[in-house]
Formats: sequence, C-alpha cells, structure tokens
Amino acid sequence: MIDINKDALTERFMRYVRVDTQSDPNSNSFPTTEKQKDLSKILFAELKQMGLSELEADEFGYVYASIPSNSDKKNIPVICFCSHVDTAPDCSGTHVKPILHKNYDGADIVLPDDATQVLRKADSPYLENHIGADIITASGNTLLGADDKSGVAVIMQAAQYFMSNPSVKHGKIRIVFTPDEEVGKGTAKIDMKKLGADFGYTLDGGEAGSMEDETFSADGANIIIHGVIAHPGYAKDKLVNAIKIAAEVLEALPKNEWSPETTEKRQGFVHPVAITGIAEKATISFIVRDFTTEGLAVHHARLKKIAEQVVSKYKGTTMEYVQQEQYRNMKEVLDKNPQVAAYASEAIERAGLKVQNESIRGGTDGSRLSYMGLPCPNIFTGMQNIHSKLEWISVNDMAKAAETIVHLGMIWEEKTSL
Ligand SMILES: [Zn+2]
Repeated sequence: MIDINKDALTERFMRYVRVDTQSDPNSNSFPTTEKQKDLSKILFAELKQMGLSELEADEFGYVYASIPSNSDKKNIPVICFCSHVDTAPDCSGTHVKPILHKNYDGADIVLPDDATQVLRKADSPYLENHIGADIITASGNTLLGADDKSGVAVIMQAAQYFMSNPSVKHGKIRIVFTPDEEVGKGTAKIDMKKLGADFGYTLDGGEAGSMEDETFSADGANIIIHGVIAHPGYAKDKLVNAIKIAAEVLEALPKNEWSPETTEKRQGFVHPVAITGIAEKATISFIVRDFTTEGLAVHHARLKKIAEQVVSKYKGTTMEYVQQEQYRNMKEVLDKNPQVAAYASEAIERAGLKVQNESIRGGTDGSRLSYMGLPCPNIFTGMQNIHSKLEWISVNDMAKAAETIVHLGMIWEEKTSL
C-alpha cells in the first residue's frame, strides 16, 4: 500500500500555483520569462532539503535532481519524471488564489472574484466522479495553473515518498522540471547528456488513469507560386498574378473534409496558416498532420497535386512545393521500447485505476523527448479545464498520480534481473 500524504501534497500544490510563472510566446530570451525561475529556485531548495543528489538549477530555468538507486541490481534502466513549471499565456497567471473545496458537494461553484465564472457539473461532467472529495479551483480572475504545477507537485511528493521509505526498492530516478513548455520550447535547452536517463514519463495529462502514448506526426509545407510580371499598363495577355493563383489554390481545397474544422479522432488534415506575396510571387504556408509518417506523405502528394492542377492552367507560371519535418508521433519510438508504456499501464493498475490509452491531436514535450532519445509517454495528474479560469483539479487524482510514480519506480526494479 502506497500511502501518499494528501495534506502535504495539497499544501505543496497550493503554494506552487501562487508563484507566477507565465511564459511568453513573443520573447526571444531563455527562459522566455525570468519569473519562471522563481519556482525553479523553490523546487531546487526543497529537493535539497529532501536529500536528493546531483542537483542543479541552471541558467535556463531547468532543475535536475537524482534519487539514487537503493537496489542491489546493477543494470536497472535510469528512468526520469518530467513536468513543466510555466503556465499558459492564454490566461492570467498573476496573483493566483487557489481555493480548496473540501468534501465537494456537487453544487455549482461560483468563483468569488468574478461571479460570472461558474464551475458546473453540466459543463464539466468529470466533477461527478469527485463528489465527496477535495477539489481545488482558482478564484475567478486567473487560471489555476494545475497545468502543470500538478505534475510538479506530484513528482515532488513522490520524491518525498521515495526518500522517506527506503524499504521501497527502485533504481536510479532522475527528475527534471522544464520551463517554456506552453510556448513550445520546453526541450530547447535541455541537456540530454546531463539528464542521463534511459526512459521518461511526463506528468502532464488529464483524467485519472489516462496515458497518452501517441501524438500527431507533423510537417510544414510551403507552396511557392511564381507568376509572370509585366507593367500593369501594358500587361494584356502577359501578366499572370501569383496572388490570384494562390487564392485559387485555396479555393480548390475540399470544403467538407481534410481540415482541422472538419476532422477529429484519428483523421489527419492540412491547414493553411499564412499567405504572403506580391503579384510576382506568393507563398501559402500549411501545417500537415497525421498519426503516421505514411499518412503525411499521402497528404503532401494530394496537396501538391491540387496546387499543380491550378498552376498548370497558367502559361509561364511555376510552383515549388517545400516540406519541412516538425515532429513525429512518439508511438514510432515507443513501439520499439514497448516496456515503457506497458510498465506505466501496470503502475496505473496497481494504483487501482483503469488505464485509458489516449492519442493527442497535437505534440508534447514527450514527443520531442522521444525523438531526442528518451522514449517518453505522458501520464495523468487529473488537471481539468486547463488554460482557463475554470481550471480545477482533484486532490485524489494527484495522489493517485504520485502513487503511480512510486509503482513505476518499483516495477522497473522488479522487472530487472540481477
Ligand atoms: Zn502542460
């Protein structure tokens, strides 16, 4: 029985969310906001106090720490737990005032600082599972920051558990807290060599029991159209306007399928995100998404053909089709290391939960880490309504996530032969 101290976990979480760590997509510095380090410093000090080793808080805002192995087995893989300290730029993270609703009674919760912000079971059916439990909300003016301070608090509480329960056997465990995940730069300055882990888990997911081991594969594509230019006063039968051809290419895209606004679940899409140009030359930029690399190739071929059909109608014009790789479905890496997700499923079950495997229609730090050599699925913490003033989380879910981490440490030790 893994007995996570829920009071300590609650206190820890409520303290971390009060620290303003919002990241900034328009900043070129690293971290994008200096204030993210305010939390990094607190975490460093607390890990030190708990007695962790190989501690470092670096200039970029990353915090690294180790829990040494306490097992006689020599070849247990080093596993790593990761979460991000920053909160989303979409919603204020200044003066967060977390409210603990003990023994939640199922009624609507009107947030005190803005009465128009009401958390209702009708809109958030997952609340139903938490009647009688303790939940935490913000106060109405800000997000809560459970994304991802729940991950931070859960990893810290699990570290405390390992340090105070030496009879629980595990291999070497690495911890890393990252800045700037919400602005897509969470792994930009991570030092994989210093991290020195074989496999990892991000704690950055929703409902209790959920595990995300699959993400989109992502490419960009530019269609560059070269028109034929002439003086507009003497252009009859000569000029071909590249901007007009670009508009025609966009018009030729299907209306009822193959776009973000018409697809869901495992369907891929192409999505124009920018158009720039002059009469002589125009560029349409797309993002292309699918769950497989082969699927991406099919989308590219189809998009290129549509554009070529339009452009070929105009004499003297040419087009280029340029594709860029952005990130890949982590499943391609995880399938080569099936024990990583399998042990996570087993840990979730040992914590008494039903595993829900989910795929993300997007990318995560875990998908980047997976391709940087650290196969890394994402595990739940319980966070709900993220990036909004109605964000909330259940203390029970966070405790289950901490329990899952402890089981993972034990499972990796058990499954390794002497
Ligand atoms: Zn997150």
